Amino acid sequence: MKITILGSGTSTGIPMVGCKCPVCTSSDPRDSRTRASLLVEHGGRYILVDTSTDLRIQAVRAGIPRIDAVLFTHAHADHVHGIDEMRGFHFHQREVIPCYASRETLTELLGKFDYIFNGRYAHGYHKIMEPHEIAAPFELFGLGITPIPLLHGNMPATGFRFGPLAYLTDCNRVPEGSMELLKGTEILIIDGLRHTPHPHHFNIREAIDMATEISPRETYITHLTHEVSHSEEADLPAGIHFAYDGLSFTI
Ligand SMILES: [Zn+2]
Ligand SMILES: [Zn+2]
Ligand SMILES: [Zn+2]
Repeated sequence: MKITILGSGTSTGIPMVGCKCPVCTSSDPRDSRTRASLLVEHGGRYILVDTSTDLRIQAVRAGIPRIDAVLFTHAHADHVHGIDEMRGFHFHQREVIPCYASRETLTELLGKFDYIFNGRYAHGYHKIMEPHEIAAPFELFGLGITPIPLLHGNMPATGFRFGPLAYLTDCNRVPEGSMELLKGTEILIIDGLRHTPHPHHFNIREAIDMATEISPRETYITHLTHEVSHSEEADLPAGIHFAYDGLSFTI
């Protein structure tokens, strides 16, 4: 299994439009962050986590040849507004692509993107994706996937566990039952937004505290804003790093 962080940035992306701060103008490619997204390759199949606003450029950059399934963490714009880019994969693959999400997330997606799920032939739209509700561990192409219920401010969001790796983007609380599901995590990718507090995201201090509790071998902090320069990584505790676009793990 190979897991690639396609995007490690917060909702605005870095550089942020119009911003001339040191991180937005940094020459370190790791400070250039597209919106949060993950790719899982397993047995020749490609599973995408979230259709980020930057999906097209992420797919071209990573050379993703096809998408066999999409998992959604939640329906915030930065995680779903690239959904129209699934049309390219649909045209290429000539099939309806399954997607998986919690009931709350599916309800929002179906409300926002009716044409993707139902087609609208009169307007030239094909049906692109087939929704599937998930509430318990399931299997895709022989790979076990565990949805991890999270809280993202006052809304529910879903993290995912793929064997020893857990992906917990967009959260500021991990409920007790979910801590059980995270036991034995070796690689943790977790929301850490920025240094200052935020009502809907862990900040870096809180992400470090969660990592200490979950106790994986390595932790990567993602969904970063332009308040954070990759060059600050040396200040993080041992085993904790900043994620960056293109970072991959072969497990
Ligand atoms: Zn987000
Ligand atoms: Zn900036
Ligand atoms: Zn969000």
